Amino acid sequence: MAQIGETRGMILFSRDYKEKDKLIKIFTESAGKVMFFAKGAHRANNPLQTAIQPFTEAVFIGNLKTDGLSFLNSAKDIKPLRKLQEDIFLNAYGSYILGLADSAIEDHIYDPALYGFTKDALQRMNDGADGETIMNIFEVQIMQRFGVALNWQSCGVCQKTTGAFDYSSKYNGILCQEHWSMDPHRYHADPRAVYFIRMFNSINYDAINTINLKLETKKAIRQTLDQLYDEYIGLHLKSKKFIDQMSEWQDVLKPKEET
Ligand SMILES: [Zn+2]
Repeated sequence: MAQIGETRGMILFSRDYKEKDKLIKIFTESAGKVMFFAKGAHRANNPLQTAIQPFTEAVFIGNLKTDGLSFLNSAKDIKPLRKLQEDIFLNAYGSYILGLADSAIEDHIYDPALYGFTKDALQRMNDGADGETIMNIFEVQIMQRFGVALNWQSCGVCQKTTGAFDYSSKYNGILCQEHWSMDPHRYHADPRAVYFIRMFNSINYDAINTINLKLETKKAIRQTLDQLYDEYIGLHLKSKKFIDQMSEWQDVLKPKEET
């Protein structure tokens, strides 16, 4: 099945194909993730050039197939996210978010909720919200799309919802301090990290303006999220590896006081 159509979409990635053509993967709002072939798109003067840059949203027009390769002809209403294109940190966080979105669902699966959630994350980073916090919220909530449902609500033993918590693989969720002894292999995570991951699991991005995390807390959250991802998701994305390397020198490069 093929149809000439147009759909709003976000560029996931593009790569050169032969000398002058490109393969472009787009997360479309109306047809999920789709791989497009764009003839001549690798030529410098091709009008598609700006539309297929990383971190660009546009309305893409072409021959859309429900399986196999689709064909991209043109684009309109092109909206580049300039800050993500230019800032090395935001670029890294945004690339990881897109990588996760690309890994979480199969191609051609209609998922406007994930599309909106992904687009919103990138847009807010571009508008100046804290990139790491946005990325963390995205990481926590997208776990469900990988089929991983964890109990962040209450202690797996007594259902308590307040106090200090740790994460337990045995209970696939949190344990209150009184019940830490029920699982000697619990994560031994920083309780502040668990506190924020619980929060990130249930908030929307609007709440982010009220969150201001210290570097130390960010590191603890990163560590716990990495542990969760190693255990439940097991992805090895290049973009994540880059973020890991980046964290080694970002303390030096970033301005001292982030607001
Ligand atoms: Zn308990």
